[in-house]
Amino acid sequence: MAQKIIAVDLDGTVCDLMTPWVAAYERQFARPMVPPARWEFLDDLDDDERAFMVAHLETPGLFESLESYPGAIDGVRRLLRDGHRALIVTSPAGPNSVIGKYAWCSDHLPGVPVVMLREKHLLKYDAIVDDHAMHARLATATGRAAYGLRWDYNAHQASCWTRLLAPEDAWDIIPRLVREL
Ligand SMILES: [Mg+2]
Repeated sequence: MAQKIIAVDLDGTVCDLMTPWVAAYERQFARPMVPPARWEFLDDLDDDERAFMVAHLETPGLFESLESYPGAIDGVRRLLRDGHRALIVTSPAGPNSVIGKYAWCSDHLPGVPVVMLREKHLLKYDAIVDDHAMHARLATATGRAAYGLRWDYNAHQASCWTRLLAPEDAWDIIPRLVREL
């Protein structure tokens, strides 16, 4: 089997940012948050809410404490065991989130290279695993595979991915799809 390069996103793909992020909103504003139904859900908030949500991403220790999705760490390890190169490719934000993302990866996926890059399509990869439709679209537009976990905020954009998978078994299926590339 030929070695493939797989670019793996972090938030919404391997680790769960959304749950603690929404919980922080609900603590701050003492009301339930309307479940994000599109990627640009921050645009639906008022100015105070949006400012809080953006600032919260720079909370020291936030990223370090994120939970991985069931099967996600094993799924990335399976790609490595199958002889592929897996890279974590995640968009940089402020300094605390950058530090937190590196720390999270060195704790949970030691030895896996981490690339902080928003323009993920510029990398030479064979497949990307990402929950953002833009990254999926840019991959498939250049003949590469895109797999993603399906959430309320990206389900309506499923046609952007080669496969958009139910979160509960996505990481079981992705290594098998990579074997067939
Ligand atoms: Mg993501």
